[in-house]
Amino acid sequence: PRRRQLSVEDYVNGVRNGDRAILARAITLIESNAPAHITQAQEVLRHLLPYTGGSLRVGITGVPGVGKSTFIEALGTMLCDQGHRVAVLAIDPSSSISRGSILGDKTRMERLARHPNAYIRPSPSGGSLGGVARKTRETLLLCEAAGFDIVLVETVGVGQSETAVRGMVDFFLLLMLAGAGDELQGIKKGVIELADALVVTKADGDNKPRAIAAQAEYRHALRYLTPATPGWKPPVRTCSAVTGEGIAAIWQEIERFRAEMTANGTFAARRREQARDWLYHLIDEQLRSLFFAHPVVRERLPTIEQAVVEGSLPVVSAVQELIAAIGRANQ
Ligand code: GDP
Repeated sequence: PRRRQLSVEDYVNGVRNGDRAILARAITLIESNAPAHITQAQEVLRHLLPYTGGSLRVGITGVPGVGKSTFIEALGTMLCDQGHRVAVLAIDPSSSISRGSILGDKTRMERLARHPNAYIRPSPSGGSLGGVARKTRETLLLCEAAGFDIVLVETVGVGQSETAVRGMVDFFLLLMLAGAGDELQGIKKGVIELADALVVTKADGDNKPRAIAAQAEYRHALRYLTPATPGWKPPVRTCSAVTGEGIAAIWQEIERFRAEMTANGTFAARRREQARDWLYHLIDEQLRSLFFAHPVVRERLPTIEQAVVEGSLPVVSAVQELIAAIGRANQ
């Protein structure tokens, strides 16, 4: 049977009342690429915007196998038991190609998924990283409007997805393995420089001494890097998601970050900066797609490209010619 169509008001009220089924449908609406859905989704977001911004947004990254889902399950369960409402989102650009490497199957985070205070949403699939990131960003806003006070955004430690997540969270956590060189972990210096804290995972059993040694190494290495957040020295911690050791201490660091960065204005400044960056990013993206979809461009670009490749037309002239042709066509 077809489900009843929901109005903008249904979505807005449902999300604000924390209705899980309606929240899930609102997220599906936001993830849709159909023009009618995009219009309705934007209308829903516009109404919900005044109720957003109230969560602590935490990004979590690390290479596959580092222990992200186990860590998020342990941290999320601890927070939910304390009475927090925790939403877990993900950005996995590979999810369009394969089943994806994170949050792909429902067996992950089973315990957390059953907790009444938790909401877990897998990565949107399909499309470019930009599209996936846009959807996760808007989903984050919906979750805030639904009353979640902590949003964890997970991503894999490869490619550009960390930058996308860094651009939408207050605090960015990098999980690292002990005993593997940075090269081996595929972690670039640039990713370490995005982090507000480093955590060496699996500090239990035989692995514990190695985790503590790695902690000392990373502490040393961090001294030569620029901190991601001005005025905040990223701490390096160890933890075990299996024994639970170190998990509470990591959350305390995040709380300390919030308190200190709120007091000195950095917290609010970053949020404003992120909103501004997002605006210009979307303008770039929209202009780009409008440009390539324009009939004049579609008609003339192949010839112009050919001329550029053959060396008979300078690139700057080629671009100016196309822009001028659009201008004439739009008159
Ligand atoms: P992800 O790919 O980063 O999400 O990593 P997973 O959370 O799926 O963990 C990868 C593997 O490491 C799994 O076999 C986990 O059981 C194991 N693992 C995760 N956390 C810990 C930990 O704290 N201690 C130990 N000993 N193993 C862990």
